[in-house]
Amino acid sequence: MDKEWVFLHRRSDEYLLGLQAFISHAVAVAGIDGNIKCPCKVCGNRHQRSATDVEDHLQISGMDDIYANGIWDKHGETVPNVTDEIHHMFQNEDMSSLLADAFGMHDYMAEPDVVDEQSSPPQGPTPYAAKFFKMVEEAQTELYPGCGKSKLLFLVCLYQVKTMFGMTDSCLNAMLTLIK
Ligand SMILES: [Zn+2]
Repeated sequence: MDKEWVFLHRRSDEYLLGLQAFISHAVAVAGIDGNIKCPCKVCGNRHQRSATDVEDHLQISGMDDIYANGIWDKHGETVPNVTDEIHHMFQNEDMSSLLADAFGMHDYMAEPDVVDEQSSPPQGPTPYAAKFFKMVEEAQTELYPGCGKSKLLFLVCLYQVKTMFGMTDSCLNAMLTLIK
């Protein structure tokens, strides 16, 4: 589903073309007696409206921001199978390597050189390196025994779901409080 138009200027030709294609598609796949839910900032998908009204509303107020950035499931966009998608996305990822990318720590992850113990006394890691190694440890610790997912992978997946569904920060915090 083409969704780029929704972020364009509401008086531009591209916006109008995208809007009309969106409404035709939504009426065809999700319409009830020719009416569809209006995703404008005012209606927020709470009301069924005629195609003409939805077109007017989206031209006047624009689409609800959270819905615009999420999945348009009320208008025929298929909700992906999140579990499969995320599993596929990360099944071959080495989380330690992702962390090394994020922290710029590939040198620390490499095999250590042979150190001349006479000239360089052993030193503890810097606070930055210590934080990094703590995260690597977390990346390899299972969320709970037998689940097959590390704590870090769980958090990455959770944020992926947040983005996919346009979940607000307060919604995510409420969920995290619930499952604590
Ligand atoms: Zn509306």
